[in-house]
Amino acid sequence: MFRRLGKAFLALALGLSTTGVAVFAAATPAHADGCYTWGRTLSEGAGGEDVRQLQIRVSGYPGSGAVLALDGAFGPATRSAVVRFQQAYGLAADGIAGPATFGKLYALQDDDCTPVNFSYAELNRCNTTWAGGNVTAATARANALVTMWKLQAMRHALGDQPIVVTSGFRSAACNSAVGGASNSRHLYGDAADLAAGPHSLCTLAQRARNHGFAGILGPGYPDHNDHTHVDGRPSRYWSAPNCGVSAAISNLMDPLGD
Ligand SMILES: [Zn+2]
Repeated sequence: MFRRLGKAFLALALGLSTTGVAVFAAATPAHADGCYTWGRTLSEGAGGEDVRQLQIRVSGYPGSGAVLALDGAFGPATRSAVVRFQQAYGLAADGIAGPATFGKLYALQDDDCTPVNFSYAELNRCNTTWAGGNVTAATARANALVTMWKLQAMRHALGDQPIVVTSGFRSAACNSAVGGASNSRHLYGDAADLAAGPHSLCTLAQRARNHGFAGILGPGYPDHNDHTHVDGRPSRYWSAPNCGVSAAISNLMDPLGD
């Protein structure tokens, strides 16, 4: 299982895949893994595609009720998200993305850039092309990737227990077939329906408030007593009345805190 690592490798990060098999990712400045390699340390004031790639991966750490903009500009909100990510994984929480932070991200991502515990296939049980929704196939797939990173953050916050996605992207045909709402976020690729077990549907709905989901629908909302729906709609709409989840809840009063 172990293989000898050359001097060029700066860090060795250990993680667990969905199958429980240990996976190893060696971080190097040149080429850390098959997905994306950061070439510089990033801190507040930085800008560029490397910042945007970082933002995607810490989009599940915006703070309660917030949504992190994926704009490629490393501002205070990005810094706070990096701090929360670092705290979540026991790293020095300085809000600066350097080798330790990137090393953890390398360990958390697969070669196709999805987080280790979610996959494009799980987020699209409709077709293999991501076509036929309300956005281009590329946009739908990119939206699903962000949703997966938010779910990965939520999964970790809930003790690294599995979260199962039963429905993600839907083409118009797939959406009609399951009786989805005519303008469902599933047509945009940024929605996920979550099944109960090991967490209750209310636990999922409550926890989703902390991980960047503008849309949350769960028990007590029509047709949502058998799953919790989360999405990335443009403005907040939360409704899971049986779980005490509504858009009116003040962030400051959120019992789950950060
Ligand atoms: Zn849904």
